[in-house]
Amino acid sequence: MLGRWAKQLVVTVSVEPDDPWVVERSGEYRSLDGLGRFHELCRRYAVRPTYLLTYSAASELRCAAFARSCGDSAEFGAHLHPEEVPPIAEVERGNHTLRPSAVEPGRLREKLANLAERVAAAAGRRPTSYRAGFGDFTPAQAAALAELGFEADSSLGPLEKMGSAYPFLRLPLEPHVLDPADLLCKSAIGNRQSAIRPLVEVPLTSVFRRPFPRRLFGVYFRLPGIVRGALRAAGLAEALRFRPAAASADDLVAVCCRTERMGVPAVMTVHSNELWPGTSGSVVTEAACAAYFERVERVLAHCRERGWSCRTLTEAARAVREGAR
Ligand SMILES: [Zn+2]
Repeated sequence: MLGRWAKQLVVTVSVEPDDPWVVERSGEYRSLDGLGRFHELCRRYAVRPTYLLTYSAASELRCAAFARSCGDSAEFGAHLHPEEVPPIAEVERGNHTLRPSAVEPGRLREKLANLAERVAAAAGRRPTSYRAGFGDFTPAQAAALAELGFEADSSLGPLEKMGSAYPFLRLPLEPHVLDPADLLCKSAIGNRQSAIRPLVEVPLTSVFRRPFPRRLFGVYFRLPGIVRGALRAAGLAEALRFRPAAASADDLVAVCCRTERMGVPAVMTVHSNELWPGTSGSVVTEAACAAYFERVERVLAHCRERGWSCRTLTEAARAVREGAR
């Protein structure tokens, strides 16, 4: 039943430290001050965002105060960057590009349990939704999260790039029960998986601007950049990401229109450090920050005008389960 996901907006915000490469220090959180403005914008359009908290952000008093002030107007999930979650091995400390798949599964499970505890302490509720840092989601994470009571993951997307490859081109665009075989390292699933309710994957949204045959996705992404640029200039093929940091307002609205026609939800990706000037590489000045908020508002206004509804990640996961019954 593909059509039931049309006109559904899911707004996700990875809540992280300021980008250490931009502010030239680790452990800075000026950008947390942008969350209130963002939440107020969402609230005006009756949108309930899902904030995915990293361990270190959830440890900040301002973040906990923000979470408590939101009450039921938002969902609070977890976002893993393993180098900042105990137990931290010496080789992990300060490695801001550490991928979850590089962490030994036993220690990874401990990290996920500690992350869930820390988010629960900040938000006053146990998290049920999740995103892996760098989209690096593995069967070991899926198994541990299911044990810890998580219901939704939003780490993957058919058009998401991992390194230099696009390993998820066959992944459905609509929310679906996660098949661990879709993930990258199939070896670490373990037998416990079968006894546990599997997670629902709510994929990140990227779409082609115009209808484009699925069987050609792989061919398209193997083309040299210059050829893809020519196809884009000719209006023949162009992939659009549903990220206010990486798309114009017109393109974000175009993504909404395409997902509506395709009968899939539009899952937006925001990073907290894009919500304050000078704390990310993509939003540097006051003017850029104002323009970012304007782009988001264009999307929210478009969705309201067209009668869209909004779901959190966990609500999307539960809708999959209810539909499957
Ligand atoms: Zn992240």
